[in-house]
Amino acid sequence: MRKKVWVVFLVVALAGFLCTFTSTTVFAAKKFVSIASGWVVGVYYPLAGAISNIAHKNLPDIKITVESSGASVANAKLIASGDADMAILQNDIAYYALKGTKPMFDKEVANMRGITALYQEHCQIQARRDAKIATVKDLKGKRVCVGPLGSGTEQNAMQILEAYGMSFNDLGKVERLTATESSDYLKDGRLDAAFYSVGVGASGLVDTAMTVDSVIVPVDGQAAESLIKKYPFFTKAIVPKTAYKGMEADVPTVAVMAILVARAEMEEAMAYQITKVIFDNIKDIERAHAKGKEVTLESALNGMSIPLHPGAEKFFKEKGIKK
Ligand code: GLU
Repeated sequence: MRKKVWVVFLVVALAGFLCTFTSTTVFAAKKFVSIASGWVVGVYYPLAGAISNIAHKNLPDIKITVESSGASVANAKLIASGDADMAILQNDIAYYALKGTKPMFDKEVANMRGITALYQEHCQIQARRDAKIATVKDLKGKRVCVGPLGSGTEQNAMQILEAYGMSFNDLGKVERLTATESSDYLKDGRLDAAFYSVGVGASGLVDTAMTVDSVIVPVDGQAAESLIKKYPFFTKAIVPKTAYKGMEADVPTVAVMAILVARAEMEEAMAYQITKVIFDNIKDIERAHAKGKEVTLESALNGMSIPLHPGAEKFFKEKGIKK
């Protein structure tokens, strides 16, 4: 009888030991990487989700988690503080972060490195048709969402208004809402217009246009010229009339680039592995959002506004993209 008790005791002890041992070793081997993305109804978030899935399927040692956020400015700060290992953000904001441009940043974000350029983000001002906003000047006195807190959109809204000789003070009401909220507010008439620097076809804008008669307000002419001159990350771009329900013609505007970055502290081998796995599985990125089709090896360095991470650089050199 005593022997039996001992055997049971030993088996239980051994099982316990094995459980603890294997679980700790599994956790020790797995590395966690967080990506600060953007708006749930934007493009960063679904794209970061695709990157996380690719890692899940192909890199057993790395688990990538995705966080939603206000986006570009907030993301650069998360990289600086080490609260995110990777981020998607606008190339203009990445550059300003690196330089510590005030008042956006109170100090330089010196530890941000480029992984790859992704796709073009258009500055889109979506307005209710009944608000009768044909040009940026007509935003005067209107209720406008200038972008979520911590967004690149808010900075672009400021720059665009400035190019038209205006500022937030000219607006009737200035809102800083999440993109989901601004879409809801436009739909139910609590807003007249909203700024979004986001990939064309972002679900927030598609959804608004399905529900309420809306227009995209152009950013063009002399104002666009002076904007590009003062802020050279902007380029001229077109929102095609097929983008949203109710559009009657192509609309000229300006655009920036979305880029994927990592902390400089990320090991070179890991940055290399992540860059490689993205391009080896580019079909999965294409499937995540229409904008994913713009992510190509050939254009990986177009608009990259900050120094590359050595891991990404190694990969692009191997592929002959970088000398
Ligand atoms: N470019 C946007 C911003 O930083 C975010 C867009 C997105 O989440 O897709 O304001």
